[in-house]
Amino acid sequence: MTYYEDLSPYEYIGEYQPLEQKSINVGWLSQTKPFLKGETSPEFKAKLFEFCLDDNVVNLCRGFHTCEFCDVDNKESFEQTKARYGKKAYSLSIGNGEIRVIGKSVVYAAPTLIYHYILEHNYKPPYEFIEAVLCGFAPGSKEHETLLNEYKVV
Ligand SMILES: [Zn+2]
Repeated sequence: MTYYEDLSPYEYIGEYQPLEQKSINVGWLSQTKPFLKGETSPEFKAKLFEFCLDDNVVNLCRGFHTCEFCDVDNKESFEQTKARYGKKAYSLSIGNGEIRVIGKSVVYAAPTLIYHYILEHNYKPPYEFIEAVLCGFAPGSKEHETLLNEYKVV
């Protein structure tokens, strides 16, 4: 997966990106770059999981990205991988999409794999992102739905 530094400006090389929107990268980790580690609250993880559910995922791409940090000898099959986080979390399990989290003055753009990185690899995202997940517009809110709809336009 492509690496982007946390809080760097988001540049998507896809067909469509909503205009006039300041998006900031979070959680685009790479094995070749160090990242901040630390505990995050169960509350934060539970909320982030909701953002990663299939209905809330944008910019789906073909295929899937495997996690660079999981043991390469891991013999987990694709069948096992895609069922990893349950039924409505297909994209989260295979890492083929992105999420959007509305912050105070920016929108955070993260890969769905961010949830896996936090759970399995102790990744600690920037505080402002944690705050936005906990206190910002939740998935299902009118504000968040409106934002996601911009990505569904083809
Ligand atoms: Zn992993």
